[in-house]
Formats: sequence, structure tokens, C-alpha cells
Amino acid sequence: MKLSQMFFVTLREEPSDAEVRSHALMVKAGFIHKLAAGIYVYGPLMWRVLRKVETIVREEHDRAGCQELLMPALQPREIWDESDRWDRYVADGILYHFQDGRGRDVCLGPTHEEVITDFVKARLTSYKQMPFTLYQIQTKFRDEIRPRFGLMRGREFVMKDAYSFDVDAETMAKSYQMMREVYRRIFSRCGLRFTPVEADAGAIGGSGSEEFMVDADTGEDAIAVCHDTGYAANVEKAVSRIPAPPEPPAEVAMHKEPTPNAKSCDDLLALFPDLPVERMLKTVIYKVTWADREAPVAVMARGDRELNEVKVLNHLDALNVELADEKLVKEVTGAEVGFAGPIGLKDGVRLLADASVEGVKGFLCGGNETDTHYLDVWFGRDLEQPETVDFGLVQEGDQTVDGNGTITITRGIEVGHIFQLGTKYSESMNLRFAAEDGKLGPAWMGCYGIGISRTAAAAIEQGHDENGMIWPLPIAPYSAMLIQMRHGDEVQDALAQEMHDALEGAGIDVLWDDRKQGAGAKFKDADLIGVPLRIVVGRDAKDRRVEWKPRSGGETEVIGADEAIERVKAAVAEARSA
Ligand code: ATP
Ligand code: MG
Repeated sequence: MKLSQMFFVTLREEPSDAEVRSHALMVKAGFIHKLAAGIYVYGPLMWRVLRKVETIVREEHDRAGCQELLMPALQPREIWDESDRWDRYVADGILYHFQDGRGRDVCLGPTHEEVITDFVKARLTSYKQMPFTLYQIQTKFRDEIRPRFGLMRGREFVMKDAYSFDVDAETMAKSYQMMREVYRRIFSRCGLRFTPVEADAGAIGGSGSEEFMVDADTGEDAIAVCHDTGYAANVEKAVSRIPAPPEPPAEVAMHKEPTPNAKSCDDLLALFPDLPVERMLKTVIYKVTWADREAPVAVMARGDRELNEVKVLNHLDALNVELADEKLVKEVTGAEVGFAGPIGLKDGVRLLADASVEGVKGFLCGGNETDTHYLDVWFGRDLEQPETVDFGLVQEGDQTVDGNGTITITRGIEVGHIFQLGTKYSESMNLRFAAEDGKLGPAWMGCYGIGISRTAAAAIEQGHDENGMIWPLPIAPYSAMLIQMRHGDEVQDALAQEMHDALEGAGIDVLWDDRKQGAGAKFKDADLIGVPLRIVVGRDAKDRRVEWKPRSGGETEVIGADEAIERVKAAVAEARSA
């Protein structure tokens, strides 16, 4: 392809609203164009990248025996009521929904569990038909509260979603393991550095799930990893060793102490310097929402542990958990924010505690009265110990649960997510089959997503420098670029044409910068769009020699034109056979 014939426009400046490099570079290079928040046109170069990612995704799914289909983006409410997800997705604010001309509720699919279950239901009768896995590559719609980072978090984006169907839990787990391998192969073939991590299943539900995280400092997800034990989990889901309770003090009666303006552990430490933070128990008031009601819930934790709201939400099987506002705190505790405690909460307020409070004796807690705390409180003596659950937010330096290693927190971009759904959708939507013994039972499902557009953005987060993108060869918009120094120079014209034709003839996608521009502008654009393999056709063309100048840096070499072609062929062949 000749660059002079392409609709190719790069911007002089980077966009002012870009917070991450991938976003800034994609806009500057004309790969994407913002139509509205989180909604983008994929320009021709971007589309080539997306198609390459899709090709790898298709090849690996097909290799594993999955079948591709295409489902509608427009979905009727009824199937979402069957699975009981309409209200949750509406409450989350993520669902694009509206009434059609006949007054029927419809939505634009944020995911397709309901549609696939409906499709399979009409066809599945016998155990003999399973296992099978279906997938599609399609546009998804999610009204993200904070669309940002360009393609990373769009409101309309391209996803691959796959669904497996099995006769029982054991074979479902096998299908899941197979897809896990498919995912490993896909992201390796895309040329990305990534980590699979244990994950929270969120609104999709089911029993087990893992996310594939592209390692990147700019990632939105925090990941707990332990290099000693190999443990890796999204912080939303991660667990660590519950710390042992501190030494108890001498037993004295519980007493109230004035603590003016002391709202945080630090304030309290200043007042009671001898009291270890492990014996300060905080009580956090949450506003919890379920489909049919809303209620405050109080959760206790040790002063040295943070609470993980995702764990609280899961334990309560709620739709939403958020910190209570001042008004609600006052209603529940009778005090201003900062003095909540377990004793004297308004009747009927549910009290829970993180496992870290177990066995803590002689502790400090809020007095449910402004500027007041209780000291020397003992569970069992002064109040019942509330139900304890692991609600802890894992932190840097925590021990792993088995005690064999130390956890560090890193960041990543979630590009894929796989779930063992179990029978959640088949039960609620009545997808049944006749087993070998003739009995009817629900199918066991798994679902598997890859953000195609997010994967492309993640590749740039991993591969760029101050001048532009550096694409991994397998998903680069073009594999190779011929940069011709002087347009109209007969010798250069002829050699570039010959090399271009030879590469295209070998099935290699090559971009030939044959424009009239000066060399500086050409190199600048080449650096920006990041084609990995580059050949400069310049003054040595008369000797059939060219410069070999890979985008990732390294020495520029002067080599024979034929050797340059061989090098490109070899690199592309290697990338394709990976
Ligand atoms: P997140 O936690 O980032 O909001 P999610 O867990 O809601 O994502 P899934 O339902 O697991 O997303 O979707 C499967 C995949 O689709 C994700 O792993 C991600 O790669 C991609 N994806 C999800 N939301 C978006 C979005 N708003 N823009 C681009 N890609 C997305
Ligand atoms: Mg996810």
C-alpha cells in the first residue's frame, strides 16, 4: 500500500483530554476519532489492528473447536427479566435501554448470556449434543459512568464473547480449562506480557472466574501477586493471611472517653499513644441497595486493615454498597461521621465484622456519640462478637494465606475475563436437556470475554516511547514499512517499487511511504504509527542497499535489499507460527 494514496492525516498536537499514552497516541496518529464520550470512529489503521487481533482470536477459538455465530445487539427486556438481571443492570446505570415504537422495553446488549441461552434452549435436547462452545465478535454497549482512556473504557466497544455448554460441573470445568489455554495462546500470540489472576465475578455471576491482565502501570486494576508462591488475584477478590490478634491488655471495665475531633486512627493515636492500632476497631457505615430495598449496614475492622467493599457486596448479595453520607451516619449512630461503633447503634441496623477483629480484646471503638469513644471493650463481656467474614482489602506487604510468601500490589489492564457460570442462566431461563438416564437437568455453562478494542489499546500501553507507538508485529497495522527518502528519484522509485511488490507478493502487508514530504516528516510519522519492521530506501539504493531500522530501536544497519526482504519474511513467518 502506498501512503500517498491513503487517507492519512496525523495531528500536530496531542489531545488535551488524554490521560494515558495509548489514548493520546491513537488520536494524534488518526487511529481513532472521538464522536462523543466513549464513542469512537476506528480509522483505517486502527481497523487493521482490530482485524488482526480478531483474526488471532478466531484462529485460536476455531482451533479449539469453538463455532462462531452472531447475535443481535438489540435485545428485548423479557429475557433479562427471566434471568433477573434487568433491574440490576438498570440500577448500575450501565444498560442502554429504551422503549421502542410499540412501547416495549429493549436494550443494547452489554453482554449476551441471555440471548445465547435463549438460542441454545430452542435446540438443546440431549446430553449427546454437548459439550460445545459458541462465540461471536460484536459491538457491545455499556453506559459507563466514567468512559475514559480512549478505547480502554468505551461506551461502545468490540468484544469477543464465548459461551460453553456442558452436562455437569466437572465437564464445565474442563471446558473452562480449555478456554483458559485458548486465552493464554491468544494473548501470547498478540505479543503481550500478561498475568492471569483470580477475579470477582461481578454482575455476571457464577462460581469461579479469572481475568487476563496486561501488565501496565497505567492499568485501572490493582493486582495482588506473590512471586514466592505464584498467587495472583485482582485486589477486588484477593485474600491474605488474617493477622493474629494483638496481646490483650490487663482486663479493666469498659469506659467512655471524650475524644474531641478524633475521627481517624491517626487522631486517636495522638490521643492514646500507647494503644496499638491493632486494638482500635473502626466501624464503617454503608448504604446497601438490593433490588427491593435499601438499608444501612455497619462493618467493623481493625484499625490496620482496610475494608474491601466488593467482598461486603458479595456477602450481602446486594446490588450496590457505598459509604453512607453524613445524614445516614447521623441517623444510624446519632453522631457525626467518625464516631460510629458497635454499641448503641439504632435498632435493626445489621452489624458485621471483618475476620481481623476476632480475638481482639480490650479495644477502642466509636461511642455513637459525637466526640466520644469507648475503651477497653471486650467481646463476650460488653457485647456479642458480630458475625465475622473476611472483608479485608489486601495490601502491599500482607502475607499469603498459606504464610509462604509476601504480597506485592501491581497494576494491570483487564483484557479478558473467563467465568464458570454453573447453572445460573440455565436454571433461571429453563435451559434443560435429557441426561443419559433420561432425567431432565440444567446445562452447565461458562462464559468468556475478550475486549478486542481494549487489547489494542493495552498493546500501546506496553509498547510506546516518546515518539509514538511500537506495535508488536502480530497485531501491527502493517508488518513492514518502506520509507523512501526522495520521491521522484528514479533509482529509489524503482527499488522501492520492486521491494514493495516482492513483499506483497509474499503475502506481507507493507506500507510504502512514497510521499513528497521531507525525510524528517516521514520519520516522524513512521515513529508515530509504530510499524515494527522498517526499511529505509535512500542514497545507497544505487547499490541495491537499504537501511534496516526497526521501530523498537537498536542499531541501524545497511544491508542488501534482498536480505532486507528475507528478514521481513522470516520475522513475519515467526510471528504467524507462534
Ligand atoms: P471492567 O471491570 O473493566 O469494567 P468488566 O469486568 O465489566 O470490565 P467483562 O464483563 O468481564 O468486563 O467484559 C469482558 C471484557 O470486555 C473485559 O475483560 C474487557 O477487556 C472488555 N471491556 C469491558 N468493558 C469495556 C469497556 N467499557 N470498554 C472496552 N472494553 C471493555
Ligand atoms: Mg470483567
